[in-house]
Amino acid sequence: MTFASNILDSIGNTPLQELRNIDTGPCRLFAKLEYHNPGGSIKDRIALSMVQTAERDGLIQPGGTLIEATAGNTGLGLALVAAQKGYKLLIVIPDKMSQEKVFHLQAMGAEVLMTRSDVVKGHPEYYQDYAARIAQETPNAFYVNQFANPANVQAHVEGTGPEIWQQMEHNIDAFVCGVGTGGTLTGVGSYLKKMSEKTQVILADPEGSVLADYVNEGVMREAGSWQVEGIGEDFIPDICDLSLVDRAYSISDQLSFATGRELLAREGIFVGSSSGTILAAALHYCRSQTECKRVVAIIPDSGNKYISKMYNDHWMLDQGFIERKHYGDLRDLISRLHRKHETVVATPDETLIAAQTRMKMHDISQLPVLQDDHICGIIDESDILLAVNDHPEHFRDPVSKYMTKKLDVVVHTAPIKQLLQTFAKDHVAIVMHGDEFLGIITRSDLLNYLRRKIS
Ligand code: PMP
Repeated sequence: MTFASNILDSIGNTPLQELRNIDTGPCRLFAKLEYHNPGGSIKDRIALSMVQTAERDGLIQPGGTLIEATAGNTGLGLALVAAQKGYKLLIVIPDKMSQEKVFHLQAMGAEVLMTRSDVVKGHPEYYQDYAARIAQETPNAFYVNQFANPANVQAHVEGTGPEIWQQMEHNIDAFVCGVGTGGTLTGVGSYLKKMSEKTQVILADPEGSVLADYVNEGVMREAGSWQVEGIGEDFIPDICDLSLVDRAYSISDQLSFATGRELLAREGIFVGSSSGTILAAALHYCRSQTECKRVVAIIPDSGNKYISKMYNDHWMLDQGFIERKHYGDLRDLISRLHRKHETVVATPDETLIAAQTRMKMHDISQLPVLQDDHICGIIDESDILLAVNDHPEHFRDPVSKYMTKKLDVVVHTAPIKQLLQTFAKDHVAIVMHGDEFLGIITRSDLLNYLRRKIS
């Protein structure tokens, strides 16, 4: 029998897969699939290494509290390790991180504190400064501090690096990764460069991060913002050795998400947003070569935490990451076109409870009511509330009894300012083309439309 006797024994030894269905120029490109780790990401490796090292150095006592600032994945790795070893865990995360990551952390037993994502290092509410402060104020606590903890790098020097070296049969021309803490880059990069003179380290950096410009031009620009999660920085982390980097590519959010989606479509590999950035940089590198290079790209985590974002067409459209057809009229503001069967609707004969369940599921507060594809009303949360407030049994009544029949209809060629009159009455605009219902426009659709115009 071959089996693991503890979940922590399953960390590491992840598969390497060649990408055969994507154009890699003259090169061979291999993906190191780190989402095969039990906590779902590359960060399980460093969680185990940082806790084991702290135990060895007497920095954690039994029953103590681990405290960390993390975008999520290190938190999940630490939760796995903390639960197995009997420590409490407190995680501080910036509020731009996906809900899925937060729920996952809480489900694994961590306490999660949310802090601002719009402040930079040095601000008391910056997630790392905040975590460090709480650690000082909490008795018997250990601030894990992945950004400055050498055991982070060590996990990759002893684990990830040697695995890649073996899997590539001691022949690798380039290694591509991103930098969150720089642990992967510094650990794997230094190991591979020690083993092989020819191996180059390629940095994949989101547009807005300061690292790529620093590597390529030696200048520290002011940081912008980006939506890819887990990589890109507004400072250079203590453990990150950028002198290992031979070349850096700056990759837009749009290209990162598109590349991640392409990897799923072509290779069946379901990856997170940082993998999209890393793969896009790897493909730039591969396609610019003139001879066959053997290239490894790290895949830090899987796509399941990002389903409601980069794998959701509506989110991608709202953010302007997917090109939409341009009509030059109000149809450009409709986020779900009825003609394409995208609208979420109610029928007059279904119950209020069914309508409200659908609103909750899609995170919307009103539904157009359609009978034989013709709009006959609109039902929103206030209509339902008025109906059931004194009579909860009305939840079982049909939508037709409480829906608003007086509709605020606009033709698709109407000017945008006509929408404002509708919104001023707290209504949504129902866009029609003759008899045909095209879709609805809400305040947030108009805001999204205006936002897309500036980007
Ligand atoms: N991708 C994801 C999804 C991550 O969570 C992280 C860690 N923040 C990284 C990449 C970067 O890894 P490292 O911290 O080793 O630079």
